[in-house]
Amino acid sequence: MHELGITQSIIEIAERHAMEGGARKVLSLTVEIGELSGVVPEAVEFAFEACSRGTLLEESKLIIESIPGRARCGDCRRETGIDRYSFACPSCDAFALEILQGEELRIKEMEVD
Ligand SMILES: [Zn+2]
Repeated sequence: MHELGITQSIIEIAERHAMEGGARKVLSLTVEIGELSGVVPEAVEFAFEACSRGTLLEESKLIIESIPGRARCGDCRRETGIDRYSFACPSCDAFALEILQGEELRIKEMEVD
């Protein structure tokens, strides 16, 4: 489960930011997870509970925003929604999909006290 390591990194980064800003605790943390990132939101939520213990994020609310996959075809230029296993353009079958969004994995915002 690589979500454990990912979640630990997210918590470390958020905590460092909170400390630099002189915060005593983090009230909420919003994380964007793209559907193409291969990261399972439920696993991050599960890991967050365990990993946040003893940190400034212990009582904070984790908000996960899922970003759907989108791509543009390099051949027909159509935009389309895709999942992790889309390899060809649904309109013209070209293997020319350029991913526009869905690979995100980042902290969007955090609320501190
Ligand atoms: Zn196409």
